[in-house]
Amino acid sequence: MKCEYCDLQDKNEDIIYADEDIVIAVKDKITTPGQITVYPKKHYPIMEMVPEDTLNKCVYAAKKVSMAVFESLEAQGTNILVRNGLSAGQSVPHFGIEIIPRREEDNLNLQWKGKEVLEDEMDMILEAIEMDLKKPSMAEAKEEIIVDKGETQAVLEKEGDNYLLKSLKRIP
Ligand SMILES: [Zn+2]
Repeated sequence: MKCEYCDLQDKNEDIIYADEDIVIAVKDKITTPGQITVYPKKHYPIMEMVPEDTLNKCVYAAKKVSMAVFESLEAQGTNILVRNGLSAGQSVPHFGIEIIPRREEDNLNLQWKGKEVLEDEMDMILEAIEMDLKKPSMAEAKEEIIVDKGETQAVLEKEGDNYLLKSLKRIP
């Protein structure tokens, strides 16, 4: 059984661009005129399953589409949306990035209410995420980040440091 995004690939009129890795399409059920979806050609249900190079290509395409939306539709903003998983409102079981053109007073309500988190709970969340980021799969990413043996590496090697955060703080 095919999914909506896999099916869309056969409908030429809905496809803006396609190559061997990604598809840029206008979906049947759209939130607002001009809403565009970028997704991998192969069927990957969620972001975590998409190979890195394909994901990079999707993000790059989303940026290009967003730029085009600003230019050609004279949008005043864009929402770049990923619904990753059922609990996140994902309705098509195929990873995709939605680009939604926005204007002031367009009456689109994509907002959600924040929920207060207790301090203890926040500490637990931070600790759990930090632990997970230090797992071996992230170590591969770490090697990619270290392109030189300068200051960044010294910072990264400090025990207990969040290397992602630290690398962002790096002064060139
Ligand atoms: Zn699919």
